[in-house]
Amino acid sequence: MTSMSEAVTDKSGWDRELIAKYDVSGPRYTSYPTALQFNEEFTDAAYHQQAEKNLKNNIAPLSLYVHIPFCQNICYYCACNKVVTSDHAVSRQYLDHLSKEIELQSQLVDKHRAVTQLHFGGGTPTFLDGAELTELMHLLATHFHLIDSEQREYSIEIDPRTVTKDSLALLKGLGFNRLSLGVQDFDEQVQIAINRQQRFGLVQTLTDVARLHQFKSISYDLIYGLPYQTPDSLRQTMEKVVELLPDRIAFYNYAHLPERFKSQRAIDRHTLPDASQKLDMLEMASNYLTDAGYLHIGMDHFVWPEDDLAIAQQQGRLQRNFQGYSTCMAPDLIGLGVSAISALSESYSQNVRQLDNYYSLLNQGKLPIDRGVILEFDDKLRRSVISQLICNLELNTRNFEKQFSIIFSEYFAKELKALKSLEVDGLIHWQDDRLCVAERGRMMLRNICMVFDKYLQAGPTSNYSKVL
Ligand code: SF4
Repeated sequence: MTSMSEAVTDKSGWDRELIAKYDVSGPRYTSYPTALQFNEEFTDAAYHQQAEKNLKNNIAPLSLYVHIPFCQNICYYCACNKVVTSDHAVSRQYLDHLSKEIELQSQLVDKHRAVTQLHFGGGTPTFLDGAELTELMHLLATHFHLIDSEQREYSIEIDPRTVTKDSLALLKGLGFNRLSLGVQDFDEQVQIAINRQQRFGLVQTLTDVARLHQFKSISYDLIYGLPYQTPDSLRQTMEKVVELLPDRIAFYNYAHLPERFKSQRAIDRHTLPDASQKLDMLEMASNYLTDAGYLHIGMDHFVWPEDDLAIAQQQGRLQRNFQGYSTCMAPDLIGLGVSAISALSESYSQNVRQLDNYYSLLNQGKLPIDRGVILEFDDKLRRSVISQLICNLELNTRNFEKQFSIIFSEYFAKELKALKSLEVDGLIHWQDDRLCVAERGRMMLRNICMVFDKYLQAGPTSNYSKVL
């Protein structure tokens, strides 16, 4: 083993050996167990059982996720479940079936459960026009208990190329209070290489208009590791980002998996930065954003100190789900739409991923469940460890023992042994009974969480993207 103190390091403090050690494939932990563990034994009957147990006779808050799969154009880096089409007539058929699913799902839920969190994702939710978005919100409001409290998190992903100033006003009027803009990179050469050209001025105007309409938070999605990106080009993008000062920044690592995602085959792999260059970019961007005043709250996310996410982290109540970090995640999340994932208290399940299947099952009056997993006690334990490390950047093992009635050092003896190497490399440290993520470890959170992942202990991780 090479410790940091022994290694010949570059200016970032990372040597090639250490980069290679941590540049492994691993999950992003939007759930635990991850989607790879979902299986087809979990049918719509299993979902009904889980719903009966968790969604009925329960007045806890509720989260909703709505997936709109359509996109006008293909972005070459994309790994989402989407349907690329310029035919906007497809929305009608989709909305009609979504309406059936909303009806079926709403019958399983206690009507009093307040929807504290609502997220429209895609694809491109704003592929739907104003009238269609209005119809969809009306449908949701008819079947679920939507609220207008300031505490709600109602967010929508925006492709800046598909919205106007007027559509932002409409979104505010429909009840959305948070926007997430897909920016990715402002460099023209990078934009051409990923087939996503959008001017800085466009993002600037939309940001200004969103502020005028008093959206509670504006978030930008950025990606590093894209073709032709260099630390210099990325620095210029960061300068522009900081000029616009979004409340939140999600800074994702591009995972090049052309064998799995067909559109990525349009990207010349020779134009991609390697793991060492990506680490330079990550470190540069992280320093640039923190110098500008942002807080690195953990996995891929930077937020302004006054933002609700920063405050929630300070108060130890930050949470994370499929849409990223959250302050008001409910115990149950219902996913609506093709490929959407539901997370009830004791299970995860995913809808079918093909539109034809989605339509066909709903036409038969069935929920379009494809697969899922029921959580065992061990899954709940490990989910809690991983969630606390990602959200709070520490784990109080004493409190954990009380919560789950286990002896931490015995239950996780193997994991504690594995953590020693990460401690030597400066990713974690111990403060009495608290396992703490060190500053350097924030960039390697996935590696730290992977130590506690039982399913990785059982087999190879090549189905996941690389950490760097
Ligand atoms: S990145 Fe977003 S907008 Fe681009 S193709 Fe994928 S889902 Fe559609």
